[in-house]
Order: sequence, then C-alpha cells, then structure tokens
Amino acid sequence: MNEQVVVGIAGKQGPFQNVATALAALDLSSIAQKSVLIKPNLGRVAGVGHGYNTHPEAVAAVVEAMQKAGASKIAIGESPLVGINTMEAFERGGITEVAQRYGVELLDFDQHKPVKTEIHNGRILEHTRICSPVFEYDVLVSVPVTKTHMHTGVTLGMKNLKGCLYRHEKVRYHQLEYLHTTYPEKTLDSAISDLATVLLPDLTVVDGYIGMEGLGPSGGEPKKSDFAVASWNPVAADIYACVLMGIDPSTIPHINLISERMNISNNPGDYTPVPADYHPFISPYKAPPKYISGEFKDIVIHDKESCSACLSTLMLFLRRFKDDMTPYLLGDGKFHIAIGKGVHDAPEGSVFVGNCSCSLKKGGIYVKGCPPVPTRIYEAVTGEEPEENEPEVH
Ligand code: SF4
Repeated sequence: MNEQVVVGIAGKQGPFQNVATALAALDLSSIAQKSVLIKPNLGRVAGVGHGYNTHPEAVAAVVEAMQKAGASKIAIGESPLVGINTMEAFERGGITEVAQRYGVELLDFDQHKPVKTEIHNGRILEHTRICSPVFEYDVLVSVPVTKTHMHTGVTLGMKNLKGCLYRHEKVRYHQLEYLHTTYPEKTLDSAISDLATVLLPDLTVVDGYIGMEGLGPSGGEPKKSDFAVASWNPVAADIYACVLMGIDPSTIPHINLISERMNISNNPGDYTPVPADYHPFISPYKAPPKYISGEFKDIVIHDKESCSACLSTLMLFLRRFKDDMTPYLLGDGKFHIAIGKGVHDAPEGSVFVGNCSCSLKKGGIYVKGCPPVPTRIYEAVTGEEPEENEPEVH
C-alpha cells in the first residue's frame, strides 16, 4: 500500500462540511502562493438540488479551503454544454452567489481563445482544443458531482474536464462515438483517455451530496447520497467515488484506460482512505439502463449513431413531457422518435430530433439543433410553448 496517497472521505454532514472534512485529510500546504482554478460541473442551466450540477456549497467549501491554504488567486470556470449560457448556469446553480461571497472570479471559458493541444500517441484524437484559462493557473481543481452516465458508466473528476474543451469541441468528442475502431472500448472512452494524457486534475474533490442515478447525465433521478471524496490523485478520487456509489470501478472503461495509459493504479487497495472505515457512507446508485426505449411506455426511440448530447436532450424531454404526447401517437399507438445520423427507416410521422436527422425531415416532424433543447421538441410537436411550470433544464 502506498501510504503517501491519501483519499479523504466524509459523509452525512451536508454538502459544505462533507467537502471541508474530506479536504482536511489532505496536505494542502502546496497551495500557498499558488493560483487555483476550480472546475465544477455546471454543464446545464438548473437549480440547486436536482443532481444536474455540483452543489454550490460544495464549491464554497473548496474555495474556503483554498483561501485558508494561502492561494494567491482563485477563479471558478466552466464551458457548459453547447448552447448553454455559462453565466446563466452559474447564476441558476448558485455559483454566482458563492463567487460574490468569497470574492473570487467567475470565468466563462468559452469567451477565451482555445489552445490547440497536440495529443501524441492518441487512440482517437491527434489534437484537441482546450480553453486557455486552464493553462493560466497553477492548480486545477476538478469538483464534479456524482452521476451515472449512459455512455461512460459514471462521470466524475476526470471526465468533468471535458468541460474544459472549447465550445463545439465537446460535441466533436460525442460525434466520434461510433467511428469504427479496433479498440473494444467506446470511442468516447478512448477520447476521454486521450484528453487525460494532456489534462488531468491536480486536485479532485467529488461532491456526492445530491448526484444523479439511472439515466444520467441528464435524464436520471436525483440521488441524495451525502458524501464527498478528495484526493491529489485523480484516479484514486474517481475510484473511491465509484466505491461510495456502490459501483465497481474496474467496470468503468475510461478510468481503466487512464489508469493504464498514465500508469496510475486503479486498485483501491493501493491508496489510503481516511477514515479507513468509510463504509457507512456508501450509498448505491442505480446503474444506467442498457436500452432506453424500454424505460418509457408507448415511446419508441429509433436510435442509430446518435451521440449522448442528443440522447440527453431526449431524456430531459421525455421526463418532462411524455404524458403530453398522448394525442400525437401514430397508428400503432406509439410515439416514435428518431435520433442519430445512422437512422434511415423510422415510420412516417416520427419526430426527428437533431441536425443529424435533417435528411429525413420530410417524413415527419423535424427538430433542428445540435443538440436542440427539450422545449424545442415540445414546440415542434404541439405547435405551442410549454407552460412555465418548472425551469428549463438544458
Ligand atoms: S444532432 Fe444530435 S446526434 Fe447529431 S451530432 Fe448533434 S448532438 Fe449529436
């Protein structure tokens, strides 16, 4: 066992104190006089407590710990999903208030020039475009929220750095998903591991206060699990977060790939959890379903070569509006939706979601966007705007 690599774990104390306690297990003395960039997961415009985004009090605890450790400068930055206004996501997610409370800067990564970064010996990528602030700070702290993920099993500290990619570069990773490769893993997993060869968190703080289980990262259910995990080792943080989510980390391909390629152990036994008995904090998450069609009665999803951005839109749409689609069932009593560039044979009258399905638009209802937001699907089908009975999450 490597006694030097500590994983701080805490639970049952709320979002702020979980993080404060987990970080207290680590030696933060190297932060003194360093500039610190905090990267939460604020990919969507959503209120606090729904499991979409990192809890603002978890971010507050990280900021406070960095200030106490003597950081010279602190900023919080994000590049959310394409089409999302970063400052709106910060505002709705409670991060703007945290930044004001502690006097730290908020950065919309997409307003800065990208840095084209070569990836040597990449599996899938030869280069990638990373938002420049990421390279302008001494310490990069990844602060993800715990979520299961339809394509990658989980999204935690290392995958959270996909939100450091510039604008549509994130979509490019998704569009790679169905490229033919000789690798057994999904190409998205390979691409995430390619990114890790040029960008890993220096420090990872996983917020497990309210995460998302099932159809994550957008269509799942909130999961109150009330724990936090922190480590200077990015693989150690992610594998212990998996353990606390009741997920065997050895089943997560991108973590395995990064472990292998970066020569960082993915064996929990090689690290030192503090406290040693963290088992009372384990809170099992429901795994993502293998096939999404079966999740929704009377909904048929024709999905071929879609990427998870459109799938996320679709899940959000179905969660909010599926009961409103009854008047629009086709002759077989089903509501048909087609996504992805490989779909060619959805029935007449289907709803074609996303620019990829543009060539089929004469056969039904077309919803443009890459990806479109969920309310656009509702509007295209019903011809009306949805009632403002809950804030749009996109
Ligand atoms: S339209 Fe949808 S499936 Fe096609 S590339 Fe855009 S997000 Fe992906």
